[in-house]
Amino acid sequence: MRLTRYFLPVLKETPSEAQIVSHRLMLRAGMIKQASAGIYSWLPLGYKVLKRIEQIVHEEQIRAGHIPMLMPTLQSADLWRESGRYDDYGQEMLRIKDRHDRDMLYGPTNEELITDIFRSHVGSYKDLPLTLYHIQWKFRDEVRPRFGVMRGREFLMKDGYNFDIDKDAALHAYNRHLVSYLRSYERMGLQAIPMRADGGPIGGDYTHEFLVLAETGESEVFYDSEITDLKFGDRAVDYDSVAACQAVLEEFTSRYARTDETHDEALFHSQVPEARRRSARGIEVGQIFYFGTKYSEAMGATVVTPDGSRVPVHMGSHGIGVSRLLGAIIEASHDDKGIIWPEGVTPFHCGIVNLKQGDTAADAACENLYKALSATGLEPLYDDRSERAGAKFATMDLIGLPWRITVGPRGLEKGVVELTSRRTGESEEMSPEAALDRLAQIYANV
Ligand code: ATP
Ligand code: MG
Repeated sequence: MRLTRYFLPVLKETPSEAQIVSHRLMLRAGMIKQASAGIYSWLPLGYKVLKRIEQIVHEEQIRAGHIPMLMPTLQSADLWRESGRYDDYGQEMLRIKDRHDRDMLYGPTNEELITDIFRSHVGSYKDLPLTLYHIQWKFRDEVRPRFGVMRGREFLMKDGYNFDIDKDAALHAYNRHLVSYLRSYERMGLQAIPMRADGGPIGGDYTHEFLVLAETGESEVFYDSEITDLKFGDRAVDYDSVAACQAVLEEFTSRYARTDETHDEALFHSQVPEARRRSARGIEVGQIFYFGTKYSEAMGATVVTPDGSRVPVHMGSHGIGVSRLLGAIIEASHDDKGIIWPEGVTPFHCGIVNLKQGDTAADAACENLYKALSATGLEPLYDDRSERAGAKFATMDLIGLPWRITVGPRGLEKGVVELTSRRTGESEEMSPEAALDRLAQIYANV
C-alpha cells in the first residue's frame, strides 16, 4: 500500500477521553473511531489487525479439529425463554422488538442458538464428538463501556461449543481448547496465562480464564511467578490424543494462578514460597468452560447411546475476545513513541520510508523494494508522501510496524538502505537485496 493512496487518519493531539495507552494509541494511529459509547468503526488500519487476529484464531481452531460456521447477531427471545436465561440475563442484554411485536435480542453469546441447531440435526452418539465455532459480533450493554475496544458494548468474539457423549469426552474437548488457545495467543506475540476462574452460578472446577498481565487490566490476579517461564513454543500436539492434551493442561495449570474470584490466600501461601508469590492486574482475553448438561437438559438436546438409551449431551463453551485482543496486545507492546506490533499480527509487514521523495534514485529504489516485497507475499506500507523525514519516522513509530526500510540518496550512493527494528530501535545498513532476504527469513518463521 502507498500511503498517499491509503486512509490513515492519524491524530496529532492525544485524545483526552482515552484513559489508557492502548485506547489512546488506537485513536492516534487512526485505527478506530467511536460511533457511540462502546461502539466503534474499524478504520482500515484497525480492521487489518482485527482480520489478522481473526485469521490466527481460525487457523488454530481448524487445526484443533473444530468446525467454523456463522450464526446471526439477532436472535429470537423464544430460545432464551426455553433455557431460562431471558429473564436472568438482565440489563446487559439489548432487547429489541420487530415490526410484528416479536421479542428479539442482539446476542451476547450463543449457547441457546447452537443448542437449537444441534438438537435439530444431531441425534446419535455416532455424530459425536462435535465442536462448532464462529467469530461474530456480540452486544452487551455494559454499564461502563470504557478503555476503547477493551470493554466495548459491541465486540467481536470467537465462541465455540463442544458436544460430547459424556464428561470425559467433554473434558478432552476442554483440554483441546486450552491447547489451541495457548498456541493462538503465542502466535499473536502474547503471553496469556490460564487461571482458575469462577464457574458462576453453574459452579464446577472446569473453567479457566486466560489473562495477559498488564497494569491496566481490570482483573486482580494471584500467581506463582514460575508460571511466566512456561512457553508453548513450536511443539506439535496431537489433538486426538487425550493424554497429550491432558499433559499440556497439567503443565500449564498445576501451579497456583487464580483470579480474585477464586483466590484463596491460605492455599496461595501453602502452595507457593514467598519469593515466588505475585499479585498483579490482568486483562481477560479468553475463557474456557465445561458446563455439563445445563443447556442440553433444559432444551432437550439428547443423543442415542450405543445401548439404545437417550442421554443429554455434555457441553462446554469457549470464548476468545478477538476485538479486545487489539487493546491487550498494545498494552503489552508499546513504548512512548507508539505501538510495537508483534510480527504475527502486524497490519503491514514492513514500512518503506523514502527520505527524499522526488529524487530519481530514491524513488526508483523504493519502487523496486515495494514491488519485490509484494512479490514475495509480504505487504509493505510505502510512505511516499512529500514530508520531512522526521514526520515519516514519527508516523511509522506510531503505527508500530515491526520493520522499516529507510531509503535515501546518500545511502544509495554506497548501495545500501537501512533496516530498522521497531522493537530494539537498532538499524543496520545493507543492500536492498539483503534487506529483502532478511525480511523473508523473519516472516518465514512467524
Ligand atoms: P468480562 O468479565 O471482562 O466482562 P466475560 O467473562 O463476561 O468478560 P465471556 O463471556 O467470558 O466474557 O466472553 C469471552 C471473551 O470475550 C472474554 O474473555 C473477553 O476477552 C471478551 N469480552 C467479554 N466482554 C467484552 C466486552 N465488553 N468488550 C470486549 N471484549 C469482551
Ligand atoms: Mg469470561
